[in-house]
Amino acid sequence: MAGNLFDLSGRVAVVTGGNGGIGLGMAEGLAGAGAAVLIVGRDAAKNAAAEARLREAGARAASLVADVADPAENRRLVAAAEERFGRLDIFVANAGINIRRPPEKYLPEEWNTILTTNLSSAFYGAQAAHPAMLKQKGGKVIVIGSMTSIFGASFAAAYSASKGGIVQLARALATAWARDNIQVNAVLPGWIDTDLTRTGRNEVDGLHERVLARTPAGRWGVPEDMAGIAVFLASRGSDFVTGAAIPVDGGYAVQA
Ligand code: NDP
Repeated sequence: MAGNLFDLSGRVAVVTGGNGGIGLGMAEGLAGAGAAVLIVGRDAAKNAAAEARLREAGARAASLVADVADPAENRRLVAAAEERFGRLDIFVANAGINIRRPPEKYLPEEWNTILTTNLSSAFYGAQAAHPAMLKQKGGKVIVIGSMTSIFGASFAAAYSASKGGIVQLARALATAWARDNIQVNAVLPGWIDTDLTRTGRNEVDGLHERVLARTPAGRWGVPEDMAGIAVFLASRGSDFVTGAAIPVDGGYAVQA
């Protein structure tokens, strides 16, 4: 294969939840490799700040306020990427939330909110992106699992269920769309320092120390740690990688 395997020049990416944390880390990686990036989130101010940050680094970037829990919003954001940048090659379904509470105290509407935001949204997004990717004979879908795709967490039953589902969703979509040259993979981040885990550390006693003790790398991850895997899974370097669930966790998942 000639050229830089990881060059994304001319490619167009959507990153849901790209206005902060892991999504922004991935968006910066993709933009740095040459992709144009559409950032999606509910908060207009966070979107604008993330868009400005990408532009200041020289990237082609845009942002859109949308709620990915809604299937129609996913169709709208795919249309926006195509309208703005002319195509869609990479769809990163990263938006996610958590409500930390013992399972016996969970309300049905909280369960539904977590499952819809974390799992159904990835399906809606991938489904919305599929026609655009078919048109150009290939594409890359990246969904975001978690260590709770593998392990249980006593304070996060709905979140764990959603993240277990993400891995199976990636496998199912990968098998369905492999002949269309669309690769679908899941990234399983370890403990990454973001708004999400900052609230977790306030709500769960001893979490910070337990993560440090359990992670072989001896540190929390940072959003920049997620850039490389995004570039790899978005590039032609991963054209024969599909249906995989790849931990990016400083060794957390292999620690006995
Ligand atoms: P953040 O809270 O920093 O980011 C979450 C992002 O999702 C924000 O950009 C938020 O934007 C967006 N978002 C949330 N709900 C919606 C919605 N309904 N529609 C559109 N956008 C939405 O968290 P992280 O960066 O930590 O998390 C990103 C992903 O990584 C999540 O899927 C999370 O489960 C996963 N993850 C995180 C880990 C960690 O240690 N941090 C570990 C494993 C997985 P806005 O508020 O503007 O809507």
